[in-house]
Amino acid sequence: MKKSWLFFVLMLSVLGLNTFAQQFTPQVTPFIKVNAPTVAITNVKLIDGTGKAAQLHQTVIFNNGKIQEVGDAEKIKPPAGAQIIDGTGKTLIPGLVMLHEHLYYTVPAGTFFNIAEMPYSFPRLYLAGGATTIRTAGSIEPQTDLAIKRMINEGKTIGPDMDVTAPYIEEQGYDIPALNVIKGPEDAAATVKFWADRGCTSFKMYVHATKADMAAVVKEAHKRHMKVTGHIGAVTYREAAETGIDDLEHGFMASSDFDSLKTEDKVNDSEERQSLIKLPVNSPKMKSLQQYMISKHVALTSTLTVFEPSTGHEMVPGGGEVALTTEARDLVEKRWQASQNHDQASIELFKKNQAWEKQYYDLGGLLVAGTDPTGAGRVVSGYSNHREIELLVDGGFTPEQAIKICTLNGAVYLGRQNEIGTVAAGKKADLVLIDGDLTNDIKNIRKTELVFKNGVGFDSQKIFESVKGHVGMN
Ligand SMILES: [Zn+2]
Repeated sequence: MKKSWLFFVLMLSVLGLNTFAQQFTPQVTPFIKVNAPTVAITNVKLIDGTGKAAQLHQTVIFNNGKIQEVGDAEKIKPPAGAQIIDGTGKTLIPGLVMLHEHLYYTVPAGTFFNIAEMPYSFPRLYLAGGATTIRTAGSIEPQTDLAIKRMINEGKTIGPDMDVTAPYIEEQGYDIPALNVIKGPEDAAATVKFWADRGCTSFKMYVHATKADMAAVVKEAHKRHMKVTGHIGAVTYREAAETGIDDLEHGFMASSDFDSLKTEDKVNDSEERQSLIKLPVNSPKMKSLQQYMISKHVALTSTLTVFEPSTGHEMVPGGGEVALTTEARDLVEKRWQASQNHDQASIELFKKNQAWEKQYYDLGGLLVAGTDPTGAGRVVSGYSNHREIELLVDGGFTPEQAIKICTLNGAVYLGRQNEIGTVAAGKKADLVLIDGDLTNDIKNIRKTELVFKNGVGFDSQKIFESVKGHVGMN
């Protein structure tokens, strides 16, 4: 009896049949709606992630977690035994690849900016919002982020694939207790080594880190074929590009390049902001900086959600206030109310940054996206993923381009474009089914119905429901 069982398992592995058998615990299974070996989504509107125009009446077939066939619904016949999902009136896009998705949120304490890990609600919200792959872009509890990644991979909790970024690499500057602080380039390099050895796969420079710190981090990370991004300030974008950084966060909102009073390796947040407010939208200096960054292959991460003005805008971008605890919601509401009609400068700068990001894309730069839901803006993960796409379209991109920025471009940055990022035969069945026509109204992005990860379809709305009132607590 025992022997024949062993033989059976061996045969399965020889035949490769057990490679798909994803196991999920009872924590996860109630949220799975589709889990069949072969699935066909028929007659759907397809935005494939490449940026090309949406196509009507498409059928997508996937088998054991991989996309097998994509094409005209009239020509492609689902194989016998396939589970059929009627896509009539719906839109299918690739799973989102979002690159600024922290796992923490503000938890008010005294007067300083206090942040705490959200290991339960945030991974769930990202997946519910359609993000099947995320980069955390700076962590405050790397060991927790790494454990969450493992538990997701083992089917014990709900969430996306994760590129876990090491703790922030920052010199002493802000009084944010959760921030990791280093002392000089040697310490910065040691931090890279320490966290790379423990499973972190990307790095992030922060505002007060110096040019020498950045050079040390870039050297150590590139040695390991890992990438470095930055929300910088002491170092200008031009200097960062020169130093070999791979990506810069927050569009051009963190650029100190136009501050005429800037001194080397020093931060002056208010001067930096004023210089951007004064900079004309069509500044040749900005264009020259962008061309230099592109020549150095620096990606740019759009995080429009975190800068969204208050006046005339939702309290929580994308409508996520229901996810907040009462205390967290009160705080967000107070800030939102207080800035009503007092944020004219923010509104103008927000629009300029949208235009600068569009220009970067049009000049041939790699524009990627993330949402930065930390409570510093009013953003809540998942809902934020929807809102970022709406804001890209608001900034002048077509829906197809906005989807490309949030899918293929992210995959290209991560070097995973052969595996994820578009709806094409041979790629992972990471897909989002939207209950509505996305090119007709981009707001339909909020109607995420099924989020497929490795071909397993999760019930988006049920996941959103499950964490209402959790953000700000866990
Ligand atoms: Zn951030």
